[in-house]
Amino acid sequence: MTVASVIVDIPTSQTDRPFDYAIPPELVGVVQPGMRVVVPFGTRFLQGFVIELKETTDMPLEQLKPIHSLFDVVPVFNEELLRLGKWLAETTLCFMVSAFQAMLPAAMKAKYEKDIRLIEQHMPFIHEKVRALFRDRLVIPWREVAQTPYVPLLQKEIARGHMEVVYRVEEKGKIKTEKWVERCASDDDVTHALVSLSQRAIKQKQMLERLLTARSLPLKQLLSETNSTFATVQALMKKQLVTVTEKEIYRDPYANRSFTKTKPLPLTDEQRQALQAIGQTIDEDVHDVFLMYGVTGSGKTEVYMQAIDLVLKKGKEAIVLVPEISLTPQMVKRFKERFGSKVAVLHSGLSLGEKYDEWRKIQRKEVQLVVGARSAIFAPFENIGIIIIDEEHETSYKQEEAPRYHARDVAIFRGRYHRCPVVLGSATPSLESFARAQKGVYKQVTLTKRMNDHAMPPVDIVDMREELRAGNRSMFSRLLFEKLTGRLQKGEQSVLFLNRRGYSSFVMCRDCGHVIQCPHCDISLTYHRVQQQLKCHYCGYEQRMSSHCPACQSEHIRFFGTGTQKVEEELTKLLPEARVIRMDVDTTSRKGAHERLLREFGEGKADILLGTQMIAKGLDFPNVTLVGVLAADTMLHVPDFRAAEKTFQLLTQVSGRAGRHHLPGEVVIQTYTPEHYSIQFASKHHYEAFYEREMMNRKKHGYPPFYYLTLITVSHVDALKGISIAEKIAAHVKKHLSAEAVVLGPVASPIARMNDRYRYQCMIKYKREANLTTALRTIMEHYQREMTRGDVTITIDLNPYMM
Ligand code: ADP
Ligand code: ZN
Ligand code: ZN
Repeated sequence: MTVASVIVDIPTSQTDRPFDYAIPPELVGVVQPGMRVVVPFGTRFLQGFVIELKETTDMPLEQLKPIHSLFDVVPVFNEELLRLGKWLAETTLCFMVSAFQAMLPAAMKAKYEKDIRLIEQHMPFIHEKVRALFRDRLVIPWREVAQTPYVPLLQKEIARGHMEVVYRVEEKGKIKTEKWVERCASDDDVTHALVSLSQRAIKQKQMLERLLTARSLPLKQLLSETNSTFATVQALMKKQLVTVTEKEIYRDPYANRSFTKTKPLPLTDEQRQALQAIGQTIDEDVHDVFLMYGVTGSGKTEVYMQAIDLVLKKGKEAIVLVPEISLTPQMVKRFKERFGSKVAVLHSGLSLGEKYDEWRKIQRKEVQLVVGARSAIFAPFENIGIIIIDEEHETSYKQEEAPRYHARDVAIFRGRYHRCPVVLGSATPSLESFARAQKGVYKQVTLTKRMNDHAMPPVDIVDMREELRAGNRSMFSRLLFEKLTGRLQKGEQSVLFLNRRGYSSFVMCRDCGHVIQCPHCDISLTYHRVQQQLKCHYCGYEQRMSSHCPACQSEHIRFFGTGTQKVEEELTKLLPEARVIRMDVDTTSRKGAHERLLREFGEGKADILLGTQMIAKGLDFPNVTLVGVLAADTMLHVPDFRAAEKTFQLLTQVSGRAGRHHLPGEVVIQTYTPEHYSIQFASKHHYEAFYEREMMNRKKHGYPPFYYLTLITVSHVDALKGISIAEKIAAHVKKHLSAEAVVLGPVASPIARMNDRYRYQCMIKYKREANLTTALRTIMEHYQREMTRGDVTITIDLNPYMM
């Protein structure tokens, strides 16, 4: 194979195809599909991904430019991941190179100009070594590579090539190494040496004796344990009793934590049935998607872990996805305790270097299991036996930048490829998934009972309109305040929850709770202060802001929003003796802050934990007996067709935080719309009733799971040009789709101006449209030049998650 197809690292339509390069003689047999290479492109050198090797190309071979050098000794993508990259690009309409970049840890996104210069300096030397290593073989397993004598050098040089960049980003991003002393002589030789060593060589004796038991030890440790100097090691080296090698060491965020091993628990009947169903597909190597529907505390995680056991026993690997936000130390701990050093952990709390090291453990098959957030779905395992997505309804599984993929879809792609089960777990499944389970597309397994037999906590709904009538203008209802005070006196803890989107600008009547909505969309209208207008961001409907409530004529109508800071101020005014920990983006932006605040709360250093979304999940504090939701409405009235679903999920999750242990818990939900079905059903912990009701809504208004959605957003510095492009796009789409498809807009986006650019959007609703992707691609190609110039940005999101 002398020609390589390479995807170069410029994300534009013109360059979004493979370019052919000649493989220079010294790299023939070394370059593999899935390796990153450096190639000449125009007047520059660029990074590229080799996707295929070929014998020939349309061009005369001598006209092909040669690959300049390598970034990798071992491919970063195998054949499956290369296919996955192509599939991602096709199904999410992104550039190939963006798909590939998204599949690698951030530390590997090389700023290659400097790297290329470095590689250039070392290249003749590296090429020679690489060639010697690979000789006539195509693929060499990593273990073997690592064992080859000159590889430490090679690895270091190559590593310097790309790690130098990371060094600039973050000191810790460099590959770390450590010197180890290793015994090279046999047991007999060492015993013999011990006898024959001179009486005065006490240090040498001590060292050898230590190495008789340990075989190899880090240099530092050996020196300190035997209280000797490097000269002693050198003396032993001279006698050919030991060698010193340099080993790479991983930056392990959990290195100084110990985990007590836990054993699988005897399962309940329900758990056993669930495990049996999943186990059968593991046994038979077939792909199936399971929806594991079970309330919080019903033992889903235990079933995941025992299914993983089955997979590991077959010598296969497992991927477990958890929402970023619930990757709390508690969740990580459970997997570390069960699976020990078999687990890699990937989440945004790790440094670039730590993430890179965890990724390499996976690539080198030193772990069999990864627990991680969304992007861990790209873990470079080669023999996957199960993929688990916990809290599958979480919207953070959807990436909001290119490639706009949903981890669930990627999981199913990989599950098909590896012929293994995909398990989606949730107490409040997404409507999409529950509907598929109802249809039999997914297999449903259900866990109905909570493990500790604790009933779900009782929920009080407080009508805040009543509070106002009673003259209470505070953010706290009388009931919640009374209960908070009671907890303080008893020394029990409370959690107060406020939605992150608390600044949202819907308009509500403080007297009757009426929220002004779009007559066509069943979505609340958004208040635009400057124009004094209320607008629908889905269909473009607008009306003047009214001074009276259209329902009850009250003048107490205003736009709504409360922030955590405001709540904290009021709380300290009303309950000066309470110790409060506030958790929101402001207080948790520093590395480790999230963990620290939770630990402090767990240690009882505060009475009240006040926070946003990030406190809704995974927390398990025995002393928490009260959960208060301050304004359940703020999440209900965002302009998002999933608002009711998200409200239901959040309320259910938040209420699950109370009374998880021996102390009984209570929940208070404050709302201006106590009659709303998502609040009502959540207070009764009644998922299925909510599902039925919400499905009716979605059907009536033509939303998923009955229809697919695609969102096209156009942003332009010039408002008029922007809208005109958006109109042309809408017309183009209409022309190419069937009469069944609905094209809404263009209208201004919910955030109508961002970074001084005006944003417009079109929404397409459809059931089945064979021409859709082609029509959308044509748009992207048509506006290519303008987009490269930066005048206009067009983004297309198939299956958007709003807000
Ligand atoms: P979920 O993931 O559905 O929220 P978990 O797996 O976390 O539920 O289980 C809740 C609690 O019950 C945990 O403390 C867990 O250790 C315990 N548990 C789970 N399964 C069993 C079992 N079969 N026997 C006893 N305790 C169990
Ligand atoms: Zn009113
Ligand atoms: Zn509307």
